[in-house]
Amino acid sequence: MTIYPPLEIPETLAAGPGPGNTDPRVLERFAKTGVADHMQKDVLRGMIEAKEMLREVFGTKNTYTYGVGGTGFSGLDCVLSMILPGDKVVAFTNGTFSGIDGLTIRMKASTREELAANPLNPKPASVVIVEVPHGQSVTGDVVDKALTKHKPMWAFMAHWETGSGRINDLKGFSDACLKHGAMGIVDVVSSLGVADYNIDDYPGVVAWASCPQKGVLSLPLTYAPVSFTDKAIDVVRKRGCYTYVHNPILEARHWGIIDGKDVPTPAYHRTHSCYAVAAFHEALRILLGYGRRGKAADYAYHEKALRQAVQAMGCDVTSNMTSLVVLNLPGKLKGKEKDLVAGCRAHGFGIWTTLSEPVQVRIGILNQLTPEAITEIVSRFADAMLDMGAEFDKQQMMNGLKAYYAKAA
Ligand SMILES: *Cc1c(COP(=O)(O)O)cnc(C)c1O
Repeated sequence: MTIYPPLEIPETLAAGPGPGNTDPRVLERFAKTGVADHMQKDVLRGMIEAKEMLREVFGTKNTYTYGVGGTGFSGLDCVLSMILPGDKVVAFTNGTFSGIDGLTIRMKASTREELAANPLNPKPASVVIVEVPHGQSVTGDVVDKALTKHKPMWAFMAHWETGSGRINDLKGFSDACLKHGAMGIVDVVSSLGVADYNIDDYPGVVAWASCPQKGVLSLPLTYAPVSFTDKAIDVVRKRGCYTYVHNPILEARHWGIIDGKDVPTPAYHRTHSCYAVAAFHEALRILLGYGRRGKAADYAYHEKALRQAVQAMGCDVTSNMTSLVVLNLPGKLKGKEKDLVAGCRAHGFGIWTTLSEPVQVRIGILNQLTPEAITEIVSRFADAMLDMGAEFDKQQMMNGLKAYYAKAA
């Protein structure tokens, strides 16, 4: 038997699509919280307060708004569990993550025969996947056309597809769902806490799922925020779904949501961690204290700085998200994306390539909202590019970045 030495994980510069760098205040809450069980009064109070703050973050009056223990895909599993075998679904995909969501949908909508025919990649007859090419956005027009043709019960889209860095048309999606009587489900894993919007402004969407590690910035694995309209919950109440733990109605009980109402005394669903509750609560306090609008403006401002800097290095940016830049390397470096990224990662500079074709480079700025942090990211990326033979004048490029920030200040 081997007992390994304690696990040391170094501090890196997390400059990818996620996770974002956790605020020290969140880590402090995590570490300073006393042990208390999952029915202790302050733990329960923390969950109820977090639920209320989460409604602010989402911009919603939906009672069924709470956190699902785990990562983004845990929240998505909860909302997508409303889909039952044989349900007609149209899902729009334009990159890695909506692609995985599409797979979840195909698994959930499959009949037993369809699942058995291809257990890890089923192709149920009731699901239509509309593939929008990598690098392009899902438009309202594409959604409208597909819903006109297929008239599904459910429609699905990612708001911000992190795989390709593209923003999809939320209003167009919601409007098309209303027009064609489909219930919309949206993955807002990448946009919640980064963009400024109220989900209640999109009434065609009945369920939303986000994650702890991106815009919400509560990595010490906490909660994936979800929100359901009463219409969605009614469907689950009438039909049920095939999960206890991610059941949209049952999971809500521990957050003090029972029989469609907020109640002062939550009911046990599972053993929530007092540490996770305290960390999540603090992350929400930080986000609301910063202000949704101010934060969204800061992301846009710093993304522009990064975008212009990589363009000055000869890169071609194909994304339009404000937390992430997805780019093609200039001519001479084409084909070296993976080597470049591996080199950066080996030195604790955590950027990424795309996870599906075509291979591009992704640089993120989650919680890196200062000129100093962006300057560090730009400088390290420039060094990596130059090491691989790129030709540009680093000093001139850095001066351009400095001028951008000086002008704004
Ligand atoms: C990151 C991401 C996910 C997956 O989140 P995990 O926390 O890795 O489970 C799903 N959808 C989108 C759009 C994402 O960006």
